[in-house]
Amino acid sequence: MKIKFLGTAAAEAFPAMFCDCEQCVKARKLGGKNIRTRSQTLIDDELFIDYPSDTYYHIIKHKINLLDIKSVLITHIHDDHFYPNDLNWMARGFSCPPSDWHGITVYGSRDIEQPLADIAANSQGYLRCESNPVFKPFKVGDYVVTALKATHGTENPYIYVIEKENKTLFYAQDTGLLPEETWEYLKDSGFYFDAVVMDCTAGTTDIAYSAHMGLPRNIKTRDMLFEYGLADENTKFILNHFSHNGGDAVYDDFSPIAEKNGFIASFEGLKIEI
Ligand SMILES: [Zn+2]
Ligand SMILES: [Zn+2]
Ligand SMILES: [Zn+2]
Repeated sequence: MKIKFLGTAAAEAFPAMFCDCEQCVKARKLGGKNIRTRSQTLIDDELFIDYPSDTYYHIIKHKINLLDIKSVLITHIHDDHFYPNDLNWMARGFSCPPSDWHGITVYGSRDIEQPLADIAANSQGYLRCESNPVFKPFKVGDYVVTALKATHGTENPYIYVIEKENKTLFYAQDTGLLPEETWEYLKDSGFYFDAVVMDCTAGTTDIAYSAHMGLPRNIKTRDMLFEYGLADENTKFILNHFSHNGGDAVYDDFSPIAEKNGFIASFEGLKIEI
């Protein structure tokens, strides 16, 4: 399974749009890996995790053909992860997809149903929407996906376990420390994670609010994954979803700290293969 990071920031992007803080000034000056857009990850050139307004920028920058994308998993409906308006443009009149195009199926919690209803109805069948409950594996093409409950500020926030050909990715953002129900499910799941992507909105700091993580919570979560046999020293741990409000958040500052603690700091264009 190939995992490519396209958008790695929190909602306001990094540098943030209207921000003159020390971290944003530094990120603007350094450029490169220090520039972060809204959250999106590509799996095997065919599956997106999340669909933010920066999708258009991502497909241009990384030379992705949207007609190759078969499925989108939505973690939650905050608009840095879910910008349904841009799915209107797949309909004829706005675009000319080939007549035999497979279209795109968007998967998520029931929160995506209402925002996608009209868009799907007007898409000439190209856009399909499928909601699934937590803790019940479902098929997405060649993948088996299980949605788990996250700790986040929307009604039904999901994190995902994605399995294909004996490889398993645990994609855990946006979330704070995982809820008890999710640990209960994971403990008896028999999963072994080859890679874990974790929320690191707070950078090196331990934040007071519950909806995100920083390095101390990442370490605590990794310890628990180890304890339950869900991961081990061969698992790749990637930290993602950075905010300028986090400690040492600029990539050039954070990356060596992450490495010292056994984590990989994401950047846009990072490819991980499991
Ligand atoms: Zn977010
Ligand atoms: Zn800032
Ligand atoms: Zn969010």
